Amino acid sequence: MTGPDERLAQFVFTLRSKGITDERVLTALEKTDRAAFIRGTFAGRSYDDMPLPIECGQTISQPSVVGLMSQALRVGPRDTVLEIGTGSGYQAAVLGRLARRVYTIERFRRLTEAAQARFRALDIHNVTVFTGDGSHGLPAQAPFDRILVTAAAEDPPGPLLAQLREGGIMVVPVGQSDTVQTLIKVTRTAQGLEYDELGPVRFVPLVEGLGDD
Ligand code: SAM
Repeated sequence: MTGPDERLAQFVFTLRSKGITDERVLTALEKTDRAAFIRGTFAGRSYDDMPLPIECGQTISQPSVVGLMSQALRVGPRDTVLEIGTGSGYQAAVLGRLARRVYTIERFRRLTEAAQARFRALDIHNVTVFTGDGSHGLPAQAPFDRILVTAAAEDPPGPLLAQLREGGIMVVPVGQSDTVQTLIKVTRTAQGLEYDELGPVRFVPLVEGLGDD
């Protein structure tokens, strides 16, 4: 029988073995209890490195993917981050430990309300949740130091690129929703946008408009 300490140690070992080396990111993952973002019987599998179902037919991402995306973003403690696709709120909570301020947008109101309730219960005060179509970003709060898209787009959305500060980084899965997509890192430099491919990923699609729930 393995106890909570052994499970946490195994969790961190798995994250390291999947390429997460940034100690701030590892600590943020270690301290963010994934079980608090999962309802029902699946909460018992929170340390498993796999996506799990949440409400509205969506998924909470695999912890190692949350770690690799957070690491690729290179979030600093003074950064303002925009996340598209709140889902359970887990990735936003991890980003909240790395950044000064996090804004996150979700198209399903039910998920927005559940995430908000979790942040309140966990005393997370630097993450703000909005219901809306995240592909338009949040012009009133722009520009952002970092932007993370946690749903697959056919191309990096133009409004999000426009809301990225000079020196800023955006990480986004790009490709068709029914295939393996490519994780792309976009950096805005004084000369323009630079694109780097980070590897294959599989995400639910970025969908236009609000969800029914
Ligand atoms: N980051 C989430 C977490 O930590 O649980 C997992 C994200 S889940 C893989 C993708 C989420 O993106 C879903 O909740 C989905 O409803 C949302 N989504 C898809 N298209 C969207 C859009 N245009 N605007 C906002 N959210 C969107």
